[in-house]
Amino acid sequence: MPDTFRNWSGSIKFTPKSRAAPRSSRQVQQLVAKARAEGKTLRPVGSGHSSTPLFNTPETLVSLERLSGVKAADYESRTARVLPGTGLRDLGAMLGEHDLAMMNLGDVDYQAIAGALSTGTHGSGISLGNLSSMVIGGVLVNGLGEEIPFGVDAGEGEDHDLSRAAALSLGTLGIITSLTLRLESSYMLHRQNFMIHIDWVLEHFAELVEQNRSFDFYWYPRSDMAQVRLLNEPGEEPTLLPPGELKKEVTGPSYEVIPNDRHLVFEEMEYMLPFDEQLAAFREVRERVKSEHRALVGWRVLVRTIAADNVMISNAQGRDTMTIALLQNNTLPFKEYFDDIEPIFQRHGGRPHWGKKHTMKAPELARLYPEWERFQQIRKQMDPDGVMMNDYLKELLGEEGE
Ligand SMILES: Cc1cc2nc3c(=O)[nH]c(=O)nc-3n(C[C@H](O)[C@H](O)[C@H](O)COP(=O)(O)OP(=O)(O)OC[C@H]3O[C@@H](n4cnc5c(N)ncnc54)[C@H](O)[C@@H]3O)c2cc1C
Repeated sequence: MPDTFRNWSGSIKFTPKSRAAPRSSRQVQQLVAKARAEGKTLRPVGSGHSSTPLFNTPETLVSLERLSGVKAADYESRTARVLPGTGLRDLGAMLGEHDLAMMNLGDVDYQAIAGALSTGTHGSGISLGNLSSMVIGGVLVNGLGEEIPFGVDAGEGEDHDLSRAAALSLGTLGIITSLTLRLESSYMLHRQNFMIHIDWVLEHFAELVEQNRSFDFYWYPRSDMAQVRLLNEPGEEPTLLPPGELKKEVTGPSYEVIPNDRHLVFEEMEYMLPFDEQLAAFREVRERVKSEHRALVGWRVLVRTIAADNVMISNAQGRDTMTIALLQNNTLPFKEYFDDIEPIFQRHGGRPHWGKKHTMKAPELARLYPEWERFQQIRKQMDPDGVMMNDYLKELLGEEGE
């Protein structure tokens, strides 16, 4: 009996006909070639933390969990070659053995590296790019079953079009079997979390962004309080600290201090907006949540920043970015709340997080990404027969009915 696949939050369930967990790029090639020859499809999956049906397939679900580990690391060039199924938690410790570290991480480290960057996973910090922006090369098995190196692995610049497409592709160009990442020397971080009234945060937002390596805040709609999270290298502390209660303080290696443990399961919508010191979109969201949703919303709203990058369909492409995320416990209704707030994000030029709830489709998305058409050309070159497609992706990327 085939097993049902369930994503992290439980909002997505499907039953693939078969599952595969290849141990080599060669085995990935064989899987893709077989699917193509039989006129079938397949989808890669990381740790299943996305909550859009990116990995859904009625046919073969391909997990990269057996392709895990650091293949090579070079301190001189601050680069490493890593396998796609490596969990971010393990990766931090493995890179640490080479005195290397990722420039930033998201809020948790449960994801696999290829899964995380394939949707543009990000942390916070106006000078820190998302995970896709750290990709300088790699290898993928395209929809024809061919092994295709890209970026520095192909002897091309990291800015080559295929590399900028593969760094965030939703698994639509093929299956990534190796990644070359640009890293930093390993570093320590000092975390301080404060509780303070949201009005103080809004008043000091620009200074907090400027003075901290990484700063973000959670707003709690019911109390109107905010949790401000500051991350800095020891000795490079900000002069401005929130005059509120210090809830948490810890110092340690970056890969241990950035991620948090999450025990509550939630649904989330997150949009990436042009950076705005005045927080106009957040102020609008706050008013709307207070007037319409406060009784229903069990959890919080998260505001972060990301540095601009040049990855083709990265949601921070070409612009310094601020992000606003709505979080709702998965035991509470979320659809009405998300649907009501989403137009505010869209009016402010927001691009949806590819791995979180949203309702946008190809025609609107194409207007948000200057290189949308170029990405589609590359995708069709890499996968002319649509072996990597599913129904959701056809609609998302504009191939409905083909
Ligand atoms: C608790 C929680 C916390 C989160 N925190 C953050 C956060 O702080 N910041 C943020 O930006 N996001 C965050 N997310 C979203 C999450 O990081 C993304 O959805 C991410 O893509 C999930 O990674 P994954 O390994 O689970 O990949 P999956 O969700 O399994 O897959 C994501 C995509 O990657 C593709 N893929 C997987 N492996 C490969 C491969 N080898 N080759 C090609 N394509 C592949 C899949 O087909 C799919 O399209 C969070 C999600 C949860 C549930």
